[in-house]
Amino acid sequence: MKPNLVIGGGIVGLYTAYYLLQQGEEVEILDQGEMEVNCSTGNAGMIVPSHIVPLASPGMIAKGFSWMLSSKSPFYIQPRLDRRLVDWCMLFYRHSTLQHVKKSIPSLKALSLLSRQLYVDFVAEHGDNGIQLQEKGLLMLYQTKEGEKEEREFSHLARANGLQVEVLGSEDIQRLEPNVEVRARGGIYFPEDAHLSPADLHRYLKGYLIKRGVKIHTNRAVRGFDKQGDMVTAVQTDKGSIPCGQLMICAGAWSGDLAKMLGFRLPMMGGKGYSFELPNQPQLQQASILTEARVSQSPYGPKVRFGGTMEISNQPQKINLNRVQGIFDAISRYYPDFRAEFPADQQIWSGLRPCSPDGLPYIGKSPRWTNVCFGTGHSMMGLSLAPATGKLLAQIAHHQSPSCPLEGFVVDRFC
Ligand SMILES: Cc1cc2nc3c(=O)[nH]c(=O)nc-3n(C[C@H](O)[C@H](O)[C@H](O)COP(=O)(O)OP(=O)(O)OC[C@H]3O[C@@H](n4cnc5c(N)ncnc54)[C@H](O)[C@@H]3O)c2cc1C
Repeated sequence: MKPNLVIGGGIVGLYTAYYLLQQGEEVEILDQGEMEVNCSTGNAGMIVPSHIVPLASPGMIAKGFSWMLSSKSPFYIQPRLDRRLVDWCMLFYRHSTLQHVKKSIPSLKALSLLSRQLYVDFVAEHGDNGIQLQEKGLLMLYQTKEGEKEEREFSHLARANGLQVEVLGSEDIQRLEPNVEVRARGGIYFPEDAHLSPADLHRYLKGYLIKRGVKIHTNRAVRGFDKQGDMVTAVQTDKGSIPCGQLMICAGAWSGDLAKMLGFRLPMMGGKGYSFELPNQPQLQQASILTEARVSQSPYGPKVRFGGTMEISNQPQKINLNRVQGIFDAISRYYPDFRAEFPADQQIWSGLRPCSPDGLPYIGKSPRWTNVCFGTGHSMMGLSLAPATGKLLAQIAHHQSPSCPLEGFVVDRFC
């Protein structure tokens, strides 16, 4: 029997390998790098069943245009004549409707809740191991009237869809954050959300898989595929071919290139974001999103990570300091007495979110090739949705009925 092969050693690929292993399968992982240049280690680590609205939603287009006028804003697309980008933007525009949001909510919510439960089960089974799963909810802070209107509308939508939601005034917020002044008009609190340390999770999971016999091929670039009938039999790399039974493609923002090699269209753009860790003083306690600035804040005891921006780009390494300054400036606006120093270059992390144009992941069988599945396109929620994606892919590979509906996530929806 040929081993199952997972392309991509980000968090989605690792969880896919994990659940295949749980099915008693032999599994190998292939990555183009050392599994370090990806989006899965420096993100905000938030597990967000509250995020039931996909990125493509009404209002995003208008907001995007206004943000593009400032070099420090949270969103940017460098205008360029790139066929793939134009195509992606057109699809994004077409999906930014209320109808799309309403249709997406049930499937996103089911996927998120499944994933959250799988995280809880995972930590119960494996122990903490530095993962620092904190089931303390997520606070969406707002400072302006418009922010309040937007967040309150969202809170009604979330409640109508069965999520737990609390609307907090400034005194309630200060109770959650007793050490630091929080400058906010109010906030929406989602008690079912959680956060963890993404780099420690990635490190632990990789080590666990290696210990359980998963072979990892690093620094191998995919050059093509060997095919026979309707099956892919091997992956050709710059260092030779690797035979595969089931092939799981979890290659993040690069997955569209692999789909192209397999002869079909999987629209995908990288959404670059930045983060940095600072000493947590005075100590922040509550994972929060500073909504007007679109900045995330995730505390880990003596350290805290701030992250944000969405630059539609395919260059993971290039750091735009103006955008990082935009994140940094938000800290003192919301937490005036927090002691923050601008991070040195080597402290700044960047990652490319794999963004599909309708804001929904691609999970399931590929068109044409019966032994190939994709698990990608999770955009701002890849950490949150990784365990559920991995579990579903392992179930599909074994012809088992999936733990939650897959209709919204079909891989060939743009073919
Ligand atoms: C600032 C920021 C904050 C974020 N915060 C959160 C958050 O709080 N919660 C959340 O859920 N999500 C968050 N995200 C999004 C999340 O980080 C991503 O959705 C997730 O990490 C994507 O994981 P992945 O495994 O799909 O892709 P990646 O982590 O990018 O992994 C893909 C892997 O595939 C490999 N690869 C690519 N092409 C090939 C090839 N041809 N051959 C071999 N290997 C290949 C790459 O080397 C890489 O290791 C955030 C993102 C950013 C940028």
